[in-house]
Amino acid sequence: MANTNETKIEERKLIIIGSGPAGLSAALYAARADVDPLVLTGMTLHGQASITSTIDNYPGFPEGIGGADLGQLFQTHAERFGAQIEMNQATSVDFSQRPFVIQAYDKTYKANSVIISTGADHRKLDVPGEKELTGRGVSYCGTCDGWFFKEKDIVVVGGGDAAIEEGLFLTRFANSVTVIHRRDELRAGAILQKHAFANPKMKFIWDTVVTEILGENAVQSVRLKNVRTGEESINETDGVFIFIGHTPNTELFAGQLELDQEGYIVIDKNMETSVPGLFAAGEVADPDFRQVITSAGMGAAAAIQATRYLERLEEGD
Ligand code: NAP
Repeated sequence: MANTNETKIEERKLIIIGSGPAGLSAALYAARADVDPLVLTGMTLHGQASITSTIDNYPGFPEGIGGADLGQLFQTHAERFGAQIEMNQATSVDFSQRPFVIQAYDKTYKANSVIISTGADHRKLDVPGEKELTGRGVSYCGTCDGWFFKEKDIVVVGGGDAAIEEGLFLTRFANSVTVIHRRDELRAGAILQKHAFANPKMKFIWDTVVTEILGENAVQSVRLKNVRTGEESINETDGVFIFIGHTPNTELFAGQLELDQEGYIVIDKNMETSVPGLFAAGEVADPDFRQVITSAGMGAAAAIQATRYLERLEEGD
């Protein structure tokens, strides 16, 4: 009789952790190089870009394309050449020897080369009330939650491209969108700024931080502090959308490869990490560009380099 407690082990040449634009582009290139890649999707199938309402700057789609639609096209394209996409989540890794070992919920994977494309997550404000009221008025995704704020008054925290782009999107639903920014000028690009300042639903509170989110079962207000004067105030609101940057999803890998001060994976121009045969692509290794096209490009480059690495290994170099 088969031992049902036995852990399933799957051995592959190349495993890709993460299924966003970087991971699926890597899968496409590796599949076309006949490396038979396996993608572990992680919890967010098709990555963060898939929850963006419209992607207007991915070449080839002059009318724009929905994030979810583009993610599905990436997957279909990779699968057409034989890439296997598996719904599973890496829970621990051992990169100290080859083959590398990836432990997932119900399976152990082994591979001589791995591409990490686990992306980045929303940075948290870390103020009282944020955690307790997440999903009850606190959100990190306008596209996902905007609909719930029809004709409500909401605040957006942050002054970068994401805050302004999402804030503008939220004006489709909300009565008013007040941007709370810790400085007196936005970091967002000029075009977004122009649209934001021209939109009658957008308001701005400058030089101010949110120090607490208040509400019993749902958000009712935010406590604000002016960073210049120290003055505190309470601003009533129905929702708090937080867009203050990202933190890379690298906790799983800490201590096993080189990370920078902010936790991003350090890679060389070949997308290779500090461990030979271990590559990284997309936002997990890119604090600067964070675009679908740059992530996709990094994924393609990582797959080309992983293929070369595996060829050298087979030749015994
Ligand atoms: P970002 O550019 O790093 O901006 C983060 C914003 O949050 C900044 O305004 C920052 O203030 C503020 N902030 C950071 N920590 C804070 C804190 N603890 N409390 C209050 N405010 C805080 O992040 P992002 O907007 O997510 O964009 C990241 C990258 O993606 C950028 O390269 C951006 O260009 C790109 N992106 C592009 C598009 C697009 O092209 N349409 C859309 C979204 C994102 P300071 O300004 O004072 O630092």
